[in-house]
Amino acid sequence: MSSILGTYKRRDVSFSEGKGVYLTSTAGEKYLDFVSGIAVNSLGHCHPYLVEAIKKQSEKLWHVSNVFTIPEQERLAKRLTDNSFADFVIFVNSGAEATEASIKVARKYFFEIGQPERNRIITFEGAFHGRTLAALFAANNKEHTLGFGPRVDGFDQVPFGDHEALKKAITKNTAAIMLETVQGEGGVRVVPDYCLKPLRKLCDDSGILLILDEVQCGIGRTGKLFAFEWANVDPDIVPIAKGIGGGFPIGACLVNKKVAIGMKPGTHGSTFGGNPLAMSIGNAVLDIILKKGFLENVQEVGNYFEKELKELQKKYSNVIEQVRGIGLLRGIKLKIDNNKFLDHLFQNKMLAVKAGDNVVRLLPPLIVEKKDIDKAIRIIAKTCSEF
Ligand SMILES: *Cc1c(COP(=O)(O)O)cnc(C)c1O
Repeated sequence: MSSILGTYKRRDVSFSEGKGVYLTSTAGEKYLDFVSGIAVNSLGHCHPYLVEAIKKQSEKLWHVSNVFTIPEQERLAKRLTDNSFADFVIFVNSGAEATEASIKVARKYFFEIGQPERNRIITFEGAFHGRTLAALFAANNKEHTLGFGPRVDGFDQVPFGDHEALKKAITKNTAAIMLETVQGEGGVRVVPDYCLKPLRKLCDDSGILLILDEVQCGIGRTGKLFAFEWANVDPDIVPIAKGIGGGFPIGACLVNKKVAIGMKPGTHGSTFGGNPLAMSIGNAVLDIILKKGFLENVQEVGNYFEKELKELQKKYSNVIEQVRGIGLLRGIKLKIDNNKFLDHLFQNKMLAVKAGDNVVRLLPPLIVEKKDIDKAIRIIAKTCSEF
């Protein structure tokens, strides 16, 4: 019997090695990995450049406290701000911590400008912001919150895509609207450009802040460094995590200078957040993702993936109801049970992960090539033919 508390329903397989888009199990079987640790292994498994970066830094310095100045952290923050709307960055260790920091920044901003009554955040049904208490009740997924009351207050939820409900939900107590630019866990639901632009305007007109959770869709996943770049909007606060560490736990909260004013010394902290080891790896990930042509290639391969998936949808319309997503954040909504489909996919030596709304999420590493996509399509086709 396992000594691990059973909070996960785990597949009975373990992996001993990973290389690029492939994982090898302890039984010696090779799997095509379209999970990437849920959008974490952005550069695939054991990318030589990341291996070198971690080796080099591990021989120099691992950890020092944030009571000291950390050059690697300064550098990663500077690069994230140089390449985005943001003026400042707070480093943490996970997505949930990054969304929690975002909530804190929004509330503190209104406190600082003398409107402490503006402390509520509007969120959307189907959202996922992490498993800490506030993030849990922010997303308000009934399966996730069950038994964890009393509910953490300060969040008001509206249906996904309901513009009228959203407008009605804004009151004199609203501080911000928080949403994922692309809902990941909720079923790979992209917030279209024609919604994001008016959303920005709505926030401006109402004097509230826009928080875009890019923990899953950020750092190149959609073919832009940040998914909101597609709509050409500037949010006020953006939590990121997953892809930035390439497998090493890093979270961050990006903020503009307007909202930064409340966050003075002592208002936030993290023991591990932004330590030299983590930051060297984050910088190495960016070295590759920011290389000329890298994101264009993600777009190209992502479009190819979409085209091929849509062909499959035509051929297996009894199985695939819809192809969703953008870049290399893809999902297929199924007409059959997604868990069953994933079991078959696994038997066929391909890994994917489920999402809400009976969706199978396909998250290859960003270094995936067309030949890997072809292989994935062959396996998905074979799997479809089994139903
Ligand atoms: C995964 C995820 C989180 C939580 O990240 P953790 O690192 O698991 O805490 C938050 N928001 C979104 C959109 C995510 O996909």
